Formats: sequence, C-alpha cells, structure tokens
Amino acid sequence: MKIYNTLTKRIEEIVPIEDGKIKMYSCGPTVYRFIHIGNLRTFTMADWIRRTFEYRGFQVLHVKNITDVGHMRQEMLDRGEDKLVSQARKEGKTSLQIAQFYTEAFHADEAKLDILPAQIFPRATEHVPEMIAIIQGLLAKGIAYEVGGYVYYDIKRFPGWHIECSAMSIKYLGEHFDVHTGGVDNIFPHHEDEIAQSEGFTGQQFVNYWVHAQHLLADGQKMAKSTGNAYTCEEIEARGFDPMALRYFYTTALYRSRLNFTFRALQAAQTALERLRGLAYRLFTQSDRERVFSAEPLAEHCWRDAFLAEVENDLNMPRAMSVVWEMLRSKELEPVDRVRLLLDWDRILGFDLKGYLLSERPQKKADPESYLTSVPSSVAMEVRERGKLRAHRDYAQADQVRQELGSAGYALRDTTRGTLVLPRRPEDEFTVISSSADVADATQLPDLYEFSVNLLAHNSCEDLKRCIESICQHAYDRHVELVIIDNGSTDDTLEYLQQLARGGDLVGAYGQRIALHVLFADHNMGFAAGRNATMRASRGRFIILMDTSIEVTGDIWEPLEKTFADPSIGVAGPYGLVTDDLREFREATGPDVDAIEGYLMAFRRELLPEVGWIDEKFRFYRLMDIYFSFFFKTAGYRAVTTQIVTERIEKHPHREWYSLSEEERATKSKKNYDIFRARWHHGESLLVVNFNPEHWWRGHDHAHHVAGEYAHTAEELPSPGVMHAHEHRHWPDHSHSHAHYHEASR
Ligand code: AMP
Ligand code: ZN
Repeated sequence: MKIYNTLTKRIEEIVPIEDGKIKMYSCGPTVYRFIHIGNLRTFTMADWIRRTFEYRGFQVLHVKNITDVGHMRQEMLDRGEDKLVSQARKEGKTSLQIAQFYTEAFHADEAKLDILPAQIFPRATEHVPEMIAIIQGLLAKGIAYEVGGYVYYDIKRFPGWHIECSAMSIKYLGEHFDVHTGGVDNIFPHHEDEIAQSEGFTGQQFVNYWVHAQHLLADGQKMAKSTGNAYTCEEIEARGFDPMALRYFYTTALYRSRLNFTFRALQAAQTALERLRGLAYRLFTQSDRERVFSAEPLAEHCWRDAFLAEVENDLNMPRAMSVVWEMLRSKELEPVDRVRLLLDWDRILGFDLKGYLLSERPQKKADPESYLTSVPSSVAMEVRERGKLRAHRDYAQADQVRQELGSAGYALRDTTRGTLVLPRRPEDEFTVISSSADVADATQLPDLYEFSVNLLAHNSCEDLKRCIESICQHAYDRHVELVIIDNGSTDDTLEYLQQLARGGDLVGAYGQRIALHVLFADHNMGFAAGRNATMRASRGRFIILMDTSIEVTGDIWEPLEKTFADPSIGVAGPYGLVTDDLREFREATGPDVDAIEGYLMAFRRELLPEVGWIDEKFRFYRLMDIYFSFFFKTAGYRAVTTQIVTERIEKHPHREWYSLSEEERATKSKKNYDIFRARWHHGESLLVVNFNPEHWWRGHDHAHHVAGEYAHTAEELPSPGVMHAHEHRHWPDHSHSHAHYHEASR
C-alpha cells in the first residue's frame, strides 16, 4: 500500500518493520463532549487503512487513545482546571463519570459507521506513571528542565509538550512502530512534539509513516464545536439519516482534500448508498445463496486488481467507488460473482453489506406495510383507501388522494407489491439554500408589505411556535410578512416549518393574510448568514429582526412606525445599550443609545444597501446586534429605543444562551467580541457619551480624522512616491500612524 507520509512529504510504499505485522496508533477523541462528524472522517480514514492491511493478510495491532484529561489551555491552567473538570462541574458529575459517558458515546458512534474497534483504547489518566517516566528520562538527558514545580521542554532542543501519546504509543507499540494517524490539525504542534519527546527519550526513529486526514468543513471553516458548525452523529440521525451514509459521504473526496458538509451532500450520499444496497440485494436474490457465502476463494480477478489499485494508491476512495459501480453494472459477470466481489471489497469499504443482505431491511424496504406503520394512522388509512380506488381502476380519484397526501408532506410510490408511503424531504419540496447568497437579493425591489418580521430558527421549536402565533394574533390590520429561516435544525422544528410552508400564507386575528416565506438551509449557516438570508428575501417597508424568545402581546407596529417618521432615526427597538469604552455595555432607556438589542431590532429596508450585510464571521448571535447598530450610526443615523414596545412584548428566557456551558459562552463571546473590536475599535465618536453635533465624525475609516489635517513642514515633506508615516490623532484618545504617500502637488 502506498500512502502520503507527512514526515517525508512523499507518497511511499508502506514497508512494515516486522514481516506480516502493522503497528498503528491513531489519535482518538477528547471525551468531555460528543465527537462530531469531522472527527468521524478522520477515524474512518484510519479504519480504511487498517482494513486494507487486514484484507492483505497483515496482523494489525491498532491503538487509539482516549484523552480523558488534559487539553489545558493557559487560562484554564491559571484556574487549575481543564475542560473535563469544568464540564464535570457544569453537569454536577465527577470528571470520571463525564469521561465514561462520552467514551461510551464515542464507541457507539464508531460502531454505527462500522469502524473496527482498536484492540487497545488506552486512557490518558491511566498512564500518568508512564508519562512521568518519560519526563524523568528527558530531565536526566538535560532535554527538559524544571522551574517552580513545572517541567518545561527545552525548545532549543525540540518544541512544547504532548506527552500522553508518546507514553501510550511507546507502551503498547514499542519505541518504533509503523503508522500514526490523525487529523491535519494534529501535525503541529501535537505530532511534532510527540516526535521530539519520543525520539529525545528513546534516541531512535519513532514512527515510519505519519498519515493525516484533511478536515471536514462547513462554510469553509473546520468543523468544530467551538465554531458552532459541528454536527454529532445523533443529530444526523435526528435529521433522518442513516449514519452509514456518512461513511459513503467520506468516500466522495480524497482523504487529503477538504470536504464540505451540507445535508444536501449527505442526502446525495445516502441516496447512493441506498442504490448500492438495492443493487446488491437484487443481485443477491438472483444468486445461489450457498455460492454467495461459500468459503471457496475468489478467482484472481482483474476487477479486484482494479479496485485494490485505487485503494492502495494513497487511499483513492472516489476512484475505488467508481470501480465498484462499474463492476456491479458490468454484464460480463454473473450476478453471483458480482455479489461475491462486492462483499469481498466491503471488507475494506466497511458498509456492512453482508449484514444488510442478511437482515430484514431489504424486504422491509419493499414491503408497503412497514412504511404504513411509520406514518400517522390517518395517512395510512388514506393510502389504504387509495389502494382500493386503484383496485377499482378509479385512477382519477386515486390521483386526487396522491395530491392531497403530497401537499400534506407525503410522497407515494406505487410498486407491484403495493404503495410505499414516505415523508417528503425539504429538498424534494422546497428550494434549499447553502449560503445567504443563494437567496435572490430583493433589497432593490419595491415594498410589498409594511413590515417583514425576520425569524431565525435553530431548534427550540416551542419558542418558534409561540413567537409566530403571537405575531399572527397581534398583527392588527397591518400588512405583515413573516420571513423565517430554518438554519439546519435537528429537532421537530424542521417538520413544523415544512408543515407551515406547505400551508401557504397565515391568517391574522383580523382575518387578514400574513404572507409567509420560509427558507430552508441545508446546514447551520451561522447566525449572521441566516439573518442576511432573510433580509435579502424581505419585501416589507420595515424589517424587524426578532428573536424567537419574544412573544408579541400588543401593537408593536404603531410605535415603530411613528419612530421612523423621524428620518434621522435609522434603527429602533425596545431594548437599548450604551457604552463608555466599547468594552462594557449596559442597558439604557434612551431614547438615544449606542445599539439596539437583537431581541427586536427594526429599521427601514431601504437602508440596507447603505449599511450593508452583516459580517458572516458571526456564527453566534452575541454582539452582532451592537456590531450591526454601529453601521447605522456610522452611516449618519440615530439608534433609538421605543419604550412603549417593551410593554407590548414578553421576553422569555433565551434558550441558546442557557444551553451553553460557561466555557462555551466565554469562547463564543470572545470570538464575537474580537470581530466587533476589529471593526469598531475607533468607534468612540459614534457613542452617545461623546456626541457632539459640531464635529460629528461619522466613523473611523481613516479618511475622517478628527485632526487629520496634519501640516507638514517643508523639510518634513518627503519626495513624491516615497512612503512615510506620522501620527494621526483619532477620537479622543487614540493616535495612530499610517504609512502613506503624498501627492506631488503637496
Ligand atoms: P479531538 O477530539 O478534537 O482531539 O479530535 C479527535 C481527532 O479528530 C483528531 O485526530 C483531530 O485531528 C480530528 N478532527 C478534529 N476536527 C476535525 C474535522 N473538522 N475534520 C476532520 N478531522 C477532525
Ligand atoms: Zn495524539
């Protein structure tokens, strides 16, 4: 087998250290939370390597560590607490219980993808003596040194610490072994440290082949819990997917290429997997069962060589899969040979096709009764009635029923054995988007409504329902449009919104029509992207960004409309914030404030081209409202509270915030604050405390300096075309120097 070795940056033939044996170490999960489907991509890659060796008759010893302690970050080190301990504190459990729980969940996830369990899953906490032994060895050699109770690695000799994998791999695989796998984020510093420590300790080469999987991405960013773009296996299942579809999905890219995740892409993989299973089953039913499972070895086969050539060429799974499909469709082979080849190759692919063929699933897939049991009984009854109509050749009536069921969200497929009924997927019924840019930009189109209320749904279905119902009940005689986005929910929100969208427009308490526009995202695009998507689709004179924790209890429209009668006001809402230093923000009654809180934020739609879209780096909602408000201010408009609206809404607990651990709140808030700071660190002149109509300097783009007219003395003025820099005073306490040229005329 040939594989790309990160160590040598070359594709190399793997030559085992010991004949017929492969010793392989894989970086495993950190177990203070569920693993996500990005981690599973890396584990699946390691699984394919292992399976290929086993297929070739090697005896593979596979070790995969469980990190149940550690991953200290500096601020946690200061508090003397690691992620596991802090999660344990949050859940009111011991760190051992937390680790146990998430370790079991990890094993369950691996099993769902048929990832072969490693023979040894060493836990970091159980290998402290081994780690200490290595550290002592390094101290004795003078490669590490001790200061104040902490041991440091001499980075002049080698960099940083990552001792656990060194200790555990040496213990179980020896000082020199064949293959070490991980994700590309492990290369530095983790694996470089591991090499440094291990080779520093043993004085010999540590690992022959380092193999790293590229990342699974969403929206161009590495999938990670802290980024807020990660999905767990459980969430995938909640969206109706078979976890095995993930394994198929991973075959669609080279392991050294980035792979972008969307539900649509996963759906395509699931469809392909179903087709593969279906074809395998058809061939299986055409074959003699005894022969399919006979122990007699497969004849040497050019198809087999073609398949292995791809797999063993740096794990080219996309090409290997196309060989699979070609072979299955080739007419030159008997069905029995095709099934046998497929089952043989599946020892590497790992789709558990044998298990599938021998299970009841293929029959169930063709059995109308098994479908009827998984839909509501009223639907099942209609399908049965329709069956009778068809039996009586009343096809017109039968089609009528099909249409009714279709608009209720069920698709029917008539087969020789009867009718299969299935819930329709969003992509079968609606346009599904992958990014905000997929929504046609309607900002330049004329107003169709007075108000467009924008809602962003991501789970918490009950809140969403309450919010929508309250808007309908208190729409008065207004022309209101509801623009809602489902941002990749994994609970019953999706089904609820599909149902809502099928029903068309809603009805207000006055019997008037409330226009409904539902957008479906094929993954969680992040908060700002979701907001941008609904704003692009809106057609009201005013846009109201509303949080689903808000319940409308009275007439919010009239006070907002009155507020905007004043053309100097750009953005308004019930809750306002002010700040003195752009760091601490506090609630204020206004009317003039520095920002309107995102619970309810209203503005004229016509201002959108002027203020621009929200930076989609905001994946989390916090501080986005302040960031966005400042764009209205820098464009020359006021941010103003409408007090009366507070009495006409009820603010319920904000679930997203309460669902997060203290640590998650801190990291996510910090990320958003950094985005805010980067854009508005010179925002002082926009603040209410500094407001001075005489020199209202709108913004901090360096064209507008408070004291920007720096008069150069003659000798100070450089020749034209020569870059120079001098101090520019910014508001009121900042000064900066910016390198620049002067025009020849000066
Ligand atoms: P962790 O639990 O974060 O230590 O990650 C466990 C393994 O998953 C490591 O080998 C990581 O390199 C890998 N990994 C983490 N995030 C991703 C991702 N988005 N895509 C692919 N692999 C990942
Ligand atoms: Zn490791």
